[in-house]
Amino acid sequence: MAEMTEGKNFIHAFIEEDIAEGGRYAGQTVHTRFPPEPNGYLHIGHCKALIIDFGTAEKFGGLCNLRMDDTNPTKEDVEFVEAIKEDIHWLGFDWGDRFFYGSDYFEKDYEYAVELIKKGLAYVCELTPEQAKEMRGDLNTPATSPYRDRPIEESLDLFARMRAGEFEDNKYTLRAKIDLASGNFNMRDPVIYRIRHMHHHRQGDKWCIYPMYDFAHPIQDALEGITHSLCSLEFENHRPLYNWVVENVSVPHRPRQIEFARLGIDHTVLSKRKLRALVENGYVSGWDDPRMPTLCGLRRRGYTPKAIRNFCDRVGVAKSPNTIEYAFLEYCLREDLNETAKRVMAVVKPVKLTITNYPEGQSETFTIENNPNRPEDGTREVTFSRDLWIEADDFLAQPIPKYKRLYPDGPECRLKGAYVIKCTGFVTDENGNVTEVLATYDPDSKGGDPADGRKIKGATIHWVDANNCADAEVRQYSNLFDDADPDAANKDFLACLNPNSLEVLSGCKVEASLKNSKAGESYQFMRLGYFCPDSKDSSPDHLVFNRSVSLKDSFKP
Ligand code: ATP
Ligand code: MG
Repeated sequence: MAEMTEGKNFIHAFIEEDIAEGGRYAGQTVHTRFPPEPNGYLHIGHCKALIIDFGTAEKFGGLCNLRMDDTNPTKEDVEFVEAIKEDIHWLGFDWGDRFFYGSDYFEKDYEYAVELIKKGLAYVCELTPEQAKEMRGDLNTPATSPYRDRPIEESLDLFARMRAGEFEDNKYTLRAKIDLASGNFNMRDPVIYRIRHMHHHRQGDKWCIYPMYDFAHPIQDALEGITHSLCSLEFENHRPLYNWVVENVSVPHRPRQIEFARLGIDHTVLSKRKLRALVENGYVSGWDDPRMPTLCGLRRRGYTPKAIRNFCDRVGVAKSPNTIEYAFLEYCLREDLNETAKRVMAVVKPVKLTITNYPEGQSETFTIENNPNRPEDGTREVTFSRDLWIEADDFLAQPIPKYKRLYPDGPECRLKGAYVIKCTGFVTDENGNVTEVLATYDPDSKGGDPADGRKIKGATIHWVDANNCADAEVRQYSNLFDDADPDAANKDFLACLNPNSLEVLSGCKVEASLKNSKAGESYQFMRLGYFCPDSKDSSPDHLVFNRSVSLKDSFKP
């Protein structure tokens, strides 16, 4: 948890230097961008990048663009573009009218590539990918590149014909002429264009050559006037190439790339490729399965933007890779919901409780505070009768040591907000299973409030009026992965899945007020945790609640 206490944001420190008098962007507006590749839904790792990109712009009174990085024609999907926008808005960030597609710059990319060829800084190569790999050299041996000295005119001609579609995939590439002996392999004459006869989701079949990310990205940044291109650490080794590109083509701006550590969370994977595999192989119900670390999954689970942003803010901006406990994310959610969620009663594993001395057919109402933290949230009426539901584990036929709930001739217990009761017996079926718990109530204990000064030895338990309640399905989730580090490079993440990450409870009993519950609301089911109506499956006829997080806190700050 070292990162939580790290107060200083090194990115902000760099930017302050850059915009100060004499700095490289003195007097300029700070301009960042968030460049998701639309090949999947955003996950909580992206949220960290969003906070860094949008948050940094905000801090310096600057701008942040949203740019779909659709340079690579293989995997983009329009479905994802809309979902990405929705998720970013949900988190509370806005790009105004600065929404772009990387592919909109393809013509410019092409022109800059031609400029490089003309300057003698790029050439058409005809090594196969395998040959190029063989000739890469190693730390002690420079790469070899037999086409490096191809005359400029010839490269210009071949590059034009590559674009015109004269050659099949991989027949030629365009390579930047940089340094075959560089200790940084990204600088050993990297490929900047390749032939791919593929349909592009926006460009259609206009192109059959596509720029490589390392060439296209700096150009996109420069054309949009980005001052600070903030990205995750895996691009650190690409920074020299980024700089080389903006220095050697005649772009109007020279952005600065700064890297930060990716967010990692234990017991989950944060990679679209892996998340996609979970969806495509049916391990989860979709990208928005409430166990997924995607923003749509977290939202469906009951996470709030505030909880997620607090989490990312506290994790902080680090230069070295860090893995944060999932329990800390839960802690941030609990903290938010504790403030805002309405307290209600629900029984997830019900057993009948009969108050034998309460008149049959009689009913009364109790007024219960919606949220003791927020008196302004008001109160609601809850009905009480002779027939109630309580949690099966609030009763034991044979008490165990220290058990303070219901058992025959056990201690007095409070029914939350109602009466003090005492267990007198129970009924079983032919198999010996408890089907009904019997108790008597004390009519003088109305209100059941611990503040009445009455000393009660037993616990306070929650209940639901069996004559006025609703049935519900409750879905309880635990870690999607048993293994703490399923994302580790040497692990088969699918083998790390927790087969019991979803527990579906049906026949749960919830208080009548929940019949009107709606997606987007959060409730504290007293003594159990925070729950929300499932946005896809819950309806007044079939209530479905997701457990967002339990009440128990396993996180030690
Ligand atoms: P993935 O491996 O999940 O596909 P990616 O980096 O390829 O991730 P992009 O859509 O390209 O996904 O990411 C957009 C931005 O979000 C990039 O700037 C990337 O650095 C950042 N990002 C992605 N994952 C994380 C993470 N776990 N922590 C911080 N930033 C991240
Ligand atoms: Mg990427």
